[in-house]
Amino acid sequence: MAKRIGIVGGGPAGLMAAEMLSARGHAVTVLEAMPTVGRKFLLAGKSGLNITHSEPYERFATRFGAANGHLRAALDAFPPDDLRDWASGLGTQTFVGSSGRVFPTVMKASPLLRAWRARLEGQGVDIRVRHRWTGFAPEGLAVETSGRAITMAFDAILVALGGASLPRLGSDAGWVGALAERGVDIAPFRPANCGFDVDWPAFFVEKFAGAPVKGVTARSAAGTIPGEFVISASGVEGSLIYAHAAVLRDALEEAGTAILTLDLAPGRTMERLAADLARQGGKASFSTRLRKGAGLDGVKAALLRACIPDAAALAPAALAAAIKAVPLRPVRSRPIAEAISSAGGVRFDAIDEGYMLKALPGVFVAGEMIDWEAPTGGYLLTACLATGRAAALGMDRWLSNK
Ligand SMILES: Cc1cc2nc3c(=O)[nH]c(=O)nc-3n(C[C@H](O)[C@H](O)[C@H](O)COP(=O)(O)OP(=O)(O)OC[C@H]3O[C@@H](n4cnc5c(N)ncnc54)[C@H](O)[C@@H]3O)c2cc1C
Repeated sequence: MAKRIGIVGGGPAGLMAAEMLSARGHAVTVLEAMPTVGRKFLLAGKSGLNITHSEPYERFATRFGAANGHLRAALDAFPPDDLRDWASGLGTQTFVGSSGRVFPTVMKASPLLRAWRARLEGQGVDIRVRHRWTGFAPEGLAVETSGRAITMAFDAILVALGGASLPRLGSDAGWVGALAERGVDIAPFRPANCGFDVDWPAFFVEKFAGAPVKGVTARSAAGTIPGEFVISASGVEGSLIYAHAAVLRDALEEAGTAILTLDLAPGRTMERLAADLARQGGKASFSTRLRKGAGLDGVKAALLRACIPDAAALAPAALAAAIKAVPLRPVRSRPIAEAISSAGGVRFDAIDEGYMLKALPGVFVAGEMIDWEAPTGGYLLTACLATGRAAALGMDRWLSNK
């Protein structure tokens, strides 16, 4: 029988839940605090909308660290190929980029979001923007809209309020108090896929802030990963840094120090590099030896000096070793408000296998507000959509057993 369902949060997780539940005949209302839905999704589209990843599924399913086991059922039920079919059903074709990441061919999110909204409206979903959920009321939800406090009653509620990064886009973690005071266990939010501060020497940051560092590998407990990053005014940013961000953040929190080991010449073995450097005349300047012997100049040569101040004094073999293991020492994560995503949120122990809060029967959760994290690469959106779907199906089952 059709039920009245309130979904709070109009991001990818909430909209996917709305799609599933309205398709099952329920009367669905989406409450969204901002003037439009999907703001973070649209911003993700500015960099092409990396919607999922094409690597073998068994590898894909291990990208969520401690949450791998918890997310597995939701991901199994909506793996990357199904996600691509779903996008295609909304008129957005996708392609696999050279890194294996999957993007819409149009490299943006707006056509997909437009078609998705149209599908939801066609299925009778009532999307109410500028409706901010403020907590629970005896009748159901307490909501603020147009400066008024109202209450709304539903048979079941699904909250998909996002994490705590980039709060200006709507997901500001303002919901934590309302759930915590009802006994929901919530892990503190921490930045994920974030930049780091580095104590750069003045000469380096004055000349190279904003410069990309390309064609390097970076090594940490997250693995040895090729890619690129950017020197920022305060430290480092960019995809290669984000790939190591969880490990660096945890090391800084636990030990107060962290090291990211850079190989500035990944295309040459240590022996070859040492031999190439040894061939340079003793009278040549250090810059010339680096450029001719190791192919390093500009930001890479300066980075070597910034991280290893006595590099110029090293003999060829030691210099080769240094170039292939430059210790970058971040001192702190950039604030969560600048991060791409967040770690922390509603702990898996607080929800059942249908994504219902154990402390609040009839209230379900989905998306980034749950305590999992993943690197960039399309994993975040895939898990948000998959948990939105799983929570919707969990709610549908709970309603029909009630
Ligand atoms: C710059 C950037 C680029 C990104 N690029 C990618 C990418 O390429 N690939 C990828 O996989 N992921 C990417 N992400 C991450 C991805 O966008 C998020 O993980 C995803 O949007 C989270 O979905 P969600 O539905 O859980 O939450 P959100 O998208 O954050 O949506 C939550 C919604 O809840 C609303 N809300 C919050 N509080 C209330 C309230 N009290 N009442 C009513 N409504 C409320 C918010 O306004 C928001 O609309 C990117 C993120 C950023 C910031």
